[in-house]
Amino acid sequence: MTTAPGQALLTITRRPETVFAHGHGSWLTDEGGKRYLDLVQGWAVNCLGHSPELIQRALAEQSARLVNPSPAYFNRPMLDLAERLVALSCFDRVFLASSGAEANEGAIKLARRWGSRQRGGAHEVVTFDHGFHGRTLAMMSASGKPGWDQLYPPMPGGFAKARLNDIASVERALTPATVAVMLELVQGEAGVNPADRGFMRELRALTTERGLLLIADEVQTGIGRCGHAFAYELYDIEPDIMTLAKGLGGGVPLAALLCREALNCFEPGDQGGTFCGNPLMAAVGLAVVNEVCRPDFLADVRQRGGRLSLGLQAIVRDHGLVGERGTGLLRALVLPHDRASDVVAAAHALAPVGLLVNAPRPNLLRFMPALNIDDAALDLGLDLLRQALRETGA
Ligand SMILES: *Cc1c(COP(=O)(O)O)cnc(C)c1O
Repeated sequence: MTTAPGQALLTITRRPETVFAHGHGSWLTDEGGKRYLDLVQGWAVNCLGHSPELIQRALAEQSARLVNPSPAYFNRPMLDLAERLVALSCFDRVFLASSGAEANEGAIKLARRWGSRQRGGAHEVVTFDHGFHGRTLAMMSASGKPGWDQLYPPMPGGFAKARLNDIASVERALTPATVAVMLELVQGEAGVNPADRGFMRELRALTTERGLLLIADEVQTGIGRCGHAFAYELYDIEPDIMTLAKGLGGGVPLAALLCREALNCFEPGDQGGTFCGNPLMAAVGLAVVNEVCRPDFLADVRQRGGRLSLGLQAIVRDHGLVGERGTGLLRALVLPHDRASDVVAAAHALAPVGLLVNAPRPNLLRFMPALNIDDAALDLGLDLLRQALRETGA
């Protein structure tokens, strides 16, 4: 018997004992040779599946050319990725970073900088119950996970909470010191809760009327996940600031903060980071964006999202579950009990082929497959899910 893996790692979460050895497309293989169909994909990160050739090529070519000349100098992939993101979006300026939390921190700094210049020092940001913006101290305060704003006291302040799809709750949270409202257009970690179209229109009107910034955290929803390059397109609104991460790097650590020209207000030295804009990650991001944000690719994502939705609806009927919801290939299945983690474990343990799904809430499973998953893998995933539900008596 070998000892359980992870003895030298700081304990941060419970992991299955599986050690993954390699991945290809929608499939992972562990060190014992067992295969798993992966509908988690690193939490919506691997938008083109595991180790796609396009990323292998970008890494190999760029690593042979230039890895990191320092963020104090321009490099070609950094310039090209920024220009590509500007061309695709309603924004004019891009700051590249390495994680979603880091991009969101940058968004808050930018809003506060703008508030100190243009709004007499306004600095408070309204965020939402159950929202998720990352794990730095400030982003834990910004997130709406119960208890998070008190986990590591003293916590940074300045984040008032409102309720998603309740415009009156936003109005109540506003004070003369408010500078911005920040939200996920579809709350991911909260269990795939989309903002309503009407609510987003009211929120855009309210923020514009009061001279407040609207910040869209598209770390999970951006880069094709919802069937469009950016989820804000689904709402016919334009935010003032947007953050991207997860899918942007297709698996590598890459994030971005985007804003309009009027917000291009950092002084030299106000913002930065050793790895920000490094050409190795930027080259990958450029390859990913060029692949995923093509109209035909996005149309396929919408079609696959519809197929997954129909498959999940059939499971809801056959297994007497509560329901299915989501946008594009970010979807959730609501269970009639709080044993979602048992279903995750049963799916993982299925043999000969396991299934990887994720339970962000006790009564809910979340699906974030590769955006290019083929129909056969999607249908197999639904079959395996039925088996796992049967085994857990759901
Ligand atoms: C994952 C996530 C983050 C945090 O991103 P990291 O790269 O883990 O720091 C922030 N916002 C949303 C909406 C996310 O889904």
